[in-house]
Amino acid sequence: MKLVLATSNKGKVKEIKALCKDYEVVPYSELMDEFEIIEDGHTFKENALIKARAVFNALNDENIIVIADDSGICVDVLGGEPGIYSARYAGQNANDKENLNKLIIEIKAKNVTSSPAHYTAAIAIVTATSEYSVHGWMYGTAITEAAGNGGFGYDPMFIPLGYDKTLGELEENIKQKLSHRAKALALAKTILSTI
Ligand code: IMP
Repeated sequence: MKLVLATSNKGKVKEIKALCKDYEVVPYSELMDEFEIIEDGHTFKENALIKARAVFNALNDENIIVIADDSGICVDVLGGEPGIYSARYAGQNANDKENLNKLIIEIKAKNVTSSPAHYTAAIAIVTATSEYSVHGWMYGTAITEAAGNGGFGYDPMFIPLGYDKTLGELEENIKQKLSHRAKALALAKTILSTI
C-alpha cells in the first residue's frame, strides 16, 4: 500500500519510513512541488487534518491515501508551550537549532534547569471517502543542557521517562519503540489495515 506523506520535514520522513516498513512511504514533495500549507488549527489534530486534506486535494487522485503528522513538545514549567507552535517557536522560519536554543532560554528564565515535558503526535489519514486521526504521547524531562546529535528538533534536550540520557544520545531504535510518533503510527496502522 502506498502512503503519501504530507510533510517534507526530514526528521519525520526518516522516522515514519523506518516505522512503516510494510508500506511504500512517499513524501508528497516527490510527487509535486512543495506548497505552503497554513496550519491555523488550534490543536495537533486540527493541523494534522489540515495538512493531510491540503495534500490530498492538491494531488487530485482518488486512489491515494495521505497521512500527515502534526507534533510538538509541551513543557510543564512553560504552561505547555511551545505545543502546536514547536516548529516556529523562535520565529516563522526558525530552524531546529534556533527553536531548541529558545526553549532552553525560556526554561532557564523560570530559574530551573529541567521540567517535566511531553511530546504529542497527531496522525491524520485522509482518503477519498474517509478521514481519521489518532494520537501518541511520550513523557519525560526537558533539560537546559542539550546533549547528543541523534533524532531531530528538541531531541537533544529531552530525556524520556525511565532513561538518563537524551534522545540525542540514545540509540535510534530506542526512540522508535518509545516515541509519540511510533505510538500514533501503531494506531494508524490498525486503521490502514481496514482501508
Ligand atoms: P510540525 O511540522 O508543525 O508538526 O512541527 C513539528 C515540530 O515539533 C518539529 O519541527 C520539532 O520542532 C518538534 N517535534 C515534533 N516531533 C519531534 C520529535 O520526535 N523530536 C524532536 N522534535 C520534534
